[in-house]
Amino acid sequence: MIVIKKSWFTLIFGSKKEAVTPESCNQYTAASLKTNPAFSQLLKQQECTTIVQLHQIHSNIGVIITTDAQAQALAPHSQEGDFMITSQPQTALSLLTADCLPIIIAHEQTKTIAAIHAGWKGISKGIIPKAITILQKTLKVCPSSMEVFIGPSARSCCYEIQNDFMPQWKKHQTRAAQYVIQNQNRQFFDLVGYVLEECKDKGISEKHIDITNAHCTLCNSTLYCSARAHKTTQRNVSLVIKNQIPYPDNYHF
Ligand SMILES: [Zn+2]
Repeated sequence: MIVIKKSWFTLIFGSKKEAVTPESCNQYTAASLKTNPAFSQLLKQQECTTIVQLHQIHSNIGVIITTDAQAQALAPHSQEGDFMITSQPQTALSLLTADCLPIIIAHEQTKTIAAIHAGWKGISKGIIPKAITILQKTLKVCPSSMEVFIGPSARSCCYEIQNDFMPQWKKHQTRAAQYVIQNQNRQFFDLVGYVLEECKDKGISEKHIDITNAHCTLCNSTLYCSARAHKTTQRNVSLVIKNQIPYPDNYHF
Protein backbone atom coordinates (compact mmCIF):
# COMPACT_ATOMS: atom_id res chain seq x y z
CA MET A 1 0.00 0.00 0.00
CA ILE A 2 1.03 3.56 -0.63
CA VAL A 3 0.52 6.01 2.23
CA ILE A 4 0.74 9.75 1.55
CA LYS A 5 0.79 11.82 4.72
CA LYS A 6 0.16 15.51 4.35
CA SER A 7 -0.23 18.05 7.13
CA TRP A 8 -4.03 18.08 6.98
CA PHE A 9 -5.03 14.84 5.26
CA THR A 10 -3.84 11.28 4.76
CA LEU A 11 -4.27 9.23 1.64
CA ILE A 12 -3.86 5.49 1.08
CA PHE A 13 -3.67 3.78 -2.29
CA GLY A 14 -4.25 0.16 -1.32
CA SER A 15 -2.96 -2.90 -3.12
CA LYS A 16 -3.97 -6.53 -3.59
CA LYS A 17 -2.96 -7.28 -0.02
CA GLU A 18 -5.78 -5.15 1.33
CA ALA A 19 -8.24 -5.81 -1.50
CA VAL A 20 -12.00 -6.23 -1.09
CA THR A 21 -14.67 -7.80 -3.27
CA PRO A 22 -17.51 -5.35 -3.91
CA GLU A 23 -19.93 -8.19 -4.70
CA SER A 24 -19.82 -8.99 -1.04
CA CYS A 25 -20.75 -5.41 -0.24
CA ASN A 26 -22.42 -6.32 3.00
CA GLN A 27 -19.01 -7.30 4.23
CA TYR A 28 -17.49 -4.08 3.00
CA THR A 29 -18.58 -1.97 5.89
CA ALA A 30 -16.86 0.57 8.04
CA ALA A 31 -16.55 -2.13 10.67
CA SER A 32 -14.77 -4.58 8.37
CA LEU A 33 -12.35 -1.98 7.05
CA LYS A 34 -11.60 -0.91 10.58
CA THR A 35 -10.62 -4.47 11.41
CA ASN A 36 -8.29 -4.55 8.39
CA PRO A 37 -4.91 -3.88 10.01
CA ALA A 38 -3.73 -2.00 6.93
CA PHE A 39 -6.35 0.70 7.41
CA SER A 40 -7.25 0.40 11.07
CA GLN A 41 -4.26 2.36 12.36
CA LEU A 42 -5.05 5.35 10.18
CA LEU A 43 -8.79 5.23 10.84
CA LYS A 44 -8.26 4.98 14.60
CA GLN A 45 -5.68 7.73 14.61
CA GLN A 46 -7.97 10.08 12.71
CA GLU A 47 -10.95 9.07 14.85
CA CYS A 48 -12.87 8.04 11.75
CA THR A 49 -16.59 7.59 12.39
CA THR A 50 -17.79 7.03 8.83
CA ILE A 51 -16.35 5.52 5.66
CA VAL A 52 -18.27 6.61 2.58
CA GLN A 53 -18.22 4.23 -0.35
CA LEU A 54 -20.55 4.85 -3.27
CA HIS A 55 -21.97 2.15 -5.51
CA GLN A 56 -19.71 2.98 -8.45
CA ILE A 57 -21.40 2.97 -11.86
CA HIS A 58 -18.85 4.61 -14.23
CA SER A 59 -20.94 7.79 -14.31
CA ASN A 60 -20.18 11.48 -13.97
CA ILE A 61 -22.38 11.94 -10.89
CA GLY A 62 -21.37 12.23 -7.26
CA VAL A 63 -22.17 13.63 -3.85
CA ILE A 64 -21.15 16.57 -1.69
CA ILE A 65 -21.17 15.51 1.94
CA THR A 66 -21.78 18.39 4.32
CA THR A 67 -23.01 16.76 7.54
CA ASP A 68 -22.18 13.74 9.69
CA ALA A 69 -25.75 12.50 9.31
CA GLN A 70 -25.43 12.61 5.53
CA ALA A 71 -22.12 10.76 5.66
CA GLN A 72 -23.64 8.07 7.85
CA ALA A 73 -26.68 7.76 5.57
CA LEU A 74 -24.30 7.01 2.70
CA ALA A 75 -23.56 3.56 4.03
CA PRO A 76 -21.24 1.51 1.83
CA HIS A 77 -22.77 0.97 -1.63
CA SER A 78 -26.12 2.53 -0.69
CA GLN A 79 -25.97 5.29 -3.28
CA GLU A 80 -24.82 5.30 -6.88
CA GLY A 81 -22.12 7.69 -8.01
CA ASP A 82 -18.44 8.06 -8.77
CA PHE A 83 -17.19 11.09 -6.87
CA MET A 84 -17.44 12.35 -3.31
CA ILE A 85 -16.53 15.73 -1.90
CA THR A 86 -16.32 16.63 1.78
CA SER A 87 -14.73 18.89 4.32
CA GLN A 88 -16.21 16.86 7.19
CA PRO A 89 -13.66 15.61 9.72
CA GLN A 90 -13.73 11.94 10.77
CA THR A 91 -15.23 11.02 7.38
CA ALA A 92 -13.12 8.81 5.11
CA LEU A 93 -13.83 8.72 1.39
CA SER A 94 -13.23 5.34 -0.19
CA LEU A 95 -12.80 4.19 -3.80
CA LEU A 96 -12.62 0.69 -5.26
CA THR A 97 -10.57 0.20 -8.42
CA ALA A 98 -8.88 -2.48 -10.49
CA ASP A 99 -7.45 -0.66 -13.55
CA CYS A 100 -9.66 2.46 -13.28
CA LEU A 101 -8.02 5.61 -11.90
CA PRO A 102 -8.41 6.45 -8.22
CA ILE A 103 -8.08 10.24 -8.10
CA ILE A 104 -7.90 12.44 -5.01
CA ILE A 105 -8.24 16.20 -5.15
CA ALA A 106 -7.27 18.25 -2.10
CA HIS A 107 -7.85 21.92 -1.39
CA GLU A 108 -5.78 23.06 1.55
CA GLN A 109 -7.27 26.48 2.27
CA THR A 110 -10.79 25.08 2.71
CA LYS A 111 -9.53 21.70 3.96
CA THR A 112 -11.70 19.91 1.44
CA ILE A 113 -11.05 16.50 -0.09
CA ALA A 114 -12.57 14.84 -3.14
CA ALA A 115 -12.28 11.23 -4.29
CA ILE A 116 -13.07 10.25 -7.88
CA HIS A 117 -13.48 6.80 -9.42
CA ALA A 118 -12.50 7.39 -13.03
CA GLY A 119 -12.47 4.75 -15.74
CA TRP A 120 -12.71 5.55 -19.44
CA LYS A 121 -16.51 5.67 -19.27
CA GLY A 122 -16.64 8.25 -16.50
CA ILE A 123 -13.78 10.22 -18.03
CA SER A 124 -15.47 10.27 -21.44
CA LYS A 125 -18.61 11.55 -19.69
CA GLY A 126 -16.55 14.41 -18.23
CA ILE A 127 -16.36 13.36 -14.58
CA ILE A 128 -13.00 15.10 -14.05
CA PRO A 129 -13.90 18.65 -15.20
CA LYS A 130 -17.32 18.25 -13.59
CA ALA A 131 -15.89 17.40 -10.17
CA ILE A 132 -13.34 20.23 -10.43
CA THR A 133 -16.06 22.70 -11.45
CA ILE A 134 -18.25 21.64 -8.52
CA LEU A 135 -15.31 22.10 -6.13
CA GLN A 136 -14.55 25.49 -7.69
CA LYS A 137 -18.15 26.73 -7.43
CA THR A 138 -18.97 25.22 -4.04
CA LEU A 139 -15.79 26.43 -2.38
CA LYS A 140 -15.54 29.63 -4.43
CA VAL A 141 -11.88 28.89 -5.06
CA CYS A 142 -9.58 28.75 -8.04
CA PRO A 143 -8.47 25.32 -9.36
CA SER A 144 -4.88 26.61 -9.30
CA SER A 145 -5.00 26.09 -5.52
CA MET A 146 -6.06 22.43 -5.84
CA GLU A 147 -3.75 19.42 -5.64
CA VAL A 148 -4.37 16.16 -7.51
CA PHE A 149 -3.10 12.67 -6.66
CA ILE A 150 -3.53 9.83 -9.13
CA GLY A 151 -3.12 6.25 -7.91
CA PRO A 152 -2.39 2.94 -9.62
CA SER A 153 -4.35 2.18 -12.80
CA ALA A 154 -3.99 0.61 -16.25
CA ARG A 155 -1.38 2.75 -18.01
CA SER A 156 -0.80 3.26 -21.70
CA CYS A 157 1.78 0.44 -21.79
CA CYS A 158 -1.04 -2.07 -21.25
CA TYR A 159 -4.39 -0.32 -21.83
CA GLU A 160 -5.22 -1.85 -25.19
CA ILE A 161 -8.26 -0.57 -27.06
CA GLN A 162 -10.23 -1.81 -30.04
CA ASN A 163 -11.77 0.06 -32.97
CA ASP A 164 -15.06 0.57 -31.16
CA PHE A 165 -13.36 2.58 -28.39
CA MET A 166 -12.95 6.02 -29.95
CA PRO A 167 -16.52 6.59 -31.27
CA GLN A 168 -17.77 6.24 -27.71
CA TRP A 169 -15.94 9.44 -26.74
CA LYS A 170 -18.45 11.35 -28.90
CA LYS A 171 -17.74 15.10 -28.66
CA HIS A 172 -14.40 14.44 -26.91
CA GLN A 173 -13.15 12.24 -29.73
CA THR A 174 -10.73 14.81 -31.16
CA ARG A 175 -8.95 15.28 -27.85
CA ALA A 176 -9.07 11.58 -27.02
CA ALA A 177 -7.49 10.71 -30.38
CA GLN A 178 -4.33 12.50 -29.23
CA TYR A 179 -3.92 9.90 -26.49
CA VAL A 180 -4.10 6.83 -28.71
CA ILE A 181 -0.73 5.12 -29.02
CA GLN A 182 -0.12 2.87 -32.02
CA ASN A 183 2.18 -0.06 -31.47
CA GLN A 184 2.47 -2.17 -34.59
CA ASN A 185 -1.07 -3.49 -35.17
CA ARG A 186 -2.26 -2.71 -31.69
CA GLN A 187 -3.72 0.45 -30.17
CA PHE A 188 -3.29 1.63 -26.61
CA PHE A 189 -4.80 4.56 -24.74
CA ASP A 190 -3.22 6.96 -22.25
CA LEU A 191 -5.98 7.68 -19.73
CA VAL A 192 -3.61 9.38 -17.29
CA GLY A 193 -2.35 11.69 -20.04
CA TYR A 194 -5.94 12.59 -20.94
CA VAL A 195 -6.80 13.32 -17.28
CA LEU A 196 -3.65 15.42 -16.86
CA GLU A 197 -4.68 17.58 -19.81
CA GLU A 198 -8.21 17.97 -18.42
CA CYS A 199 -6.86 19.03 -15.02
CA LYS A 200 -4.48 21.54 -16.60
CA ASP A 201 -7.29 22.80 -18.81
CA LYS A 202 -9.32 23.56 -15.70
CA GLY A 203 -6.41 25.56 -14.29
CA ILE A 204 -4.69 23.05 -12.02
CA SER A 205 -0.95 23.51 -12.18
CA GLU A 206 1.07 20.55 -13.48
CA LYS A 207 3.33 20.80 -10.44
CA HIS A 208 0.24 20.18 -8.27
CA ILE A 209 -0.57 16.90 -10.02
CA ASP A 210 1.18 13.94 -8.42
CA ILE A 211 1.45 10.88 -10.67
CA THR A 212 4.42 9.35 -8.87
CA ASN A 213 2.10 6.61 -7.56
CA ALA A 214 0.23 6.07 -10.82
CA HIS A 215 1.81 2.64 -11.27
CA CYS A 216 0.47 0.37 -13.99
CA THR A 217 -1.87 -2.20 -12.43
CA LEU A 218 -1.23 -4.63 -15.32
CA CYS A 219 2.57 -4.38 -15.31
CA ASN A 220 2.37 -4.77 -11.51
CA SER A 221 -0.51 -7.23 -11.37
CA THR A 222 1.19 -9.29 -8.68
CA LEU A 223 0.93 -6.21 -6.46
CA TYR A 224 -2.39 -4.69 -7.55
CA CYS A 225 -5.81 -6.05 -8.47
CA SER A 226 -6.25 -5.77 -12.21
CA ALA A 227 -9.58 -6.59 -13.87
CA ARG A 228 -7.88 -6.79 -17.26
CA ALA A 229 -4.97 -8.95 -16.16
CA HIS A 230 -6.85 -11.40 -13.97
CA LYS A 231 -10.56 -10.89 -14.70
CA THR A 232 -10.76 -10.49 -10.95
CA THR A 233 -13.66 -9.11 -8.98
CA GLN A 234 -11.31 -7.97 -6.24
CA ARG A 235 -10.67 -4.26 -5.95
CA ASN A 236 -7.86 -2.09 -4.59
CA VAL A 237 -9.16 0.23 -1.87
CA SER A 238 -8.15 3.89 -1.87
CA LEU A 239 -8.97 5.94 1.18
CA VAL A 240 -8.59 9.61 2.06
CA ILE A 241 -9.38 11.31 5.35
CA LYS A 242 -8.71 14.69 6.92
CA ASN A 243 -6.34 14.63 9.86
CA GLN A 244 -7.84 15.28 13.26
CA ILE A 245 -4.48 16.39 14.54
CA PRO A 246 -2.40 18.19 11.92
CA TYR A 247 1.19 17.08 11.58
CA PRO A 248 3.99 18.45 9.46
CA ASP A 249 4.19 17.42 5.79
CA ASN A 250 6.12 14.19 5.24
CA TYR A 251 5.79 13.28 8.90
CA HIS A 252 6.68 9.65 9.57
CA PHE A 253 4.98 7.62 12.26
ZN1 LIG B 1 1.63 -1.58 -18.06
